[in-house]
Amino acid sequence: MELYPIETGRFRLDGGAMFGVVPKVLWQRTNPADEYNRILMAMRALLVIENNRIVLIDNGIGHKYDEKFAKNYAIDHETYTLESSLHQIGVSLEDITDVVLTHLHFDHCGGTTALDNNGNPYIIFPNARIWVQKRHLAWALNPNPREKASFLKENIEPIARSEQLQLLDGETELFPGFSIKVVNGHTEAQQLPIIQYKDYTILYAADLFPTHGHIPLPYVMSYDVRPLITLQERQEFLPWIVNNNVILFYEHDPYYECGTVKINEKGKYQSDKTFPLKEITG
Ligand SMILES: [Zn+2]
Repeated sequence: MELYPIETGRFRLDGGAMFGVVPKVLWQRTNPADEYNRILMAMRALLVIENNRIVLIDNGIGHKYDEKFAKNYAIDHETYTLESSLHQIGVSLEDITDVVLTHLHFDHCGGTTALDNNGNPYIIFPNARIWVQKRHLAWALNPNPREKASFLKENIEPIARSEQLQLLDGETELFPGFSIKVVNGHTEAQQLPIIQYKDYTILYAADLFPTHGHIPLPYVMSYDVRPLITLQERQEFLPWIVNNNVILFYEHDPYYECGTVKINEKGKYQSDKTFPLKEITG
């Protein structure tokens, strides 16, 4: 198996919304805010190559936005785009066999589609199966007002009507060494890939642990639709992460690709080591 981090671009979100009830004096130590109180966020996909499969987990925000949207979210594609990051490792859009979408918020699935010359969205991976949780798709197609700004029609509708779409119903093993957990606090049925690589267990942490600053138990985002469920899910994941030396792959951390978790002297969960993925892939 080969693993590659795929940087698709950067953007910014309100720091307060990203840390829920946590006071700014605490969260700004790990995630400093800009003049608009926004924190820097990566949109880091993960490419998994195994036998004849080339699997892309999430794909960033894409390019189907206008100037106002770009400004509001400080979208930055100067240094990275999905296309350039794939190109760098010699993988083309046609090569991708599977796209696993953790969920359909715009910063996770926007890169699935682009606009053709007539302004119609199409799927940019002509040969890929697109894996989405069935309950999540139904939820995203009929969004509640609180989440509506994150579920964009131009992202979701082309996926929903595509013959490439493969619906998953709950937790499963997609192929040996690649299983999927489902959590329901951030949104309905977010799916989190768990990858067995060499002797390591890697959790694609998506929006359950978006950055290394989000490891402490109560550091739950305001965006989450069911924060108490997120808390429960973190209470289940954190002991498993610590006891099994699970490596978290951070989708949104602008500084660190990977990290581990420890219990500190006060008995609280805390980010431990942070390191680039190549430290384990060589
Ligand atoms: Zn999300």
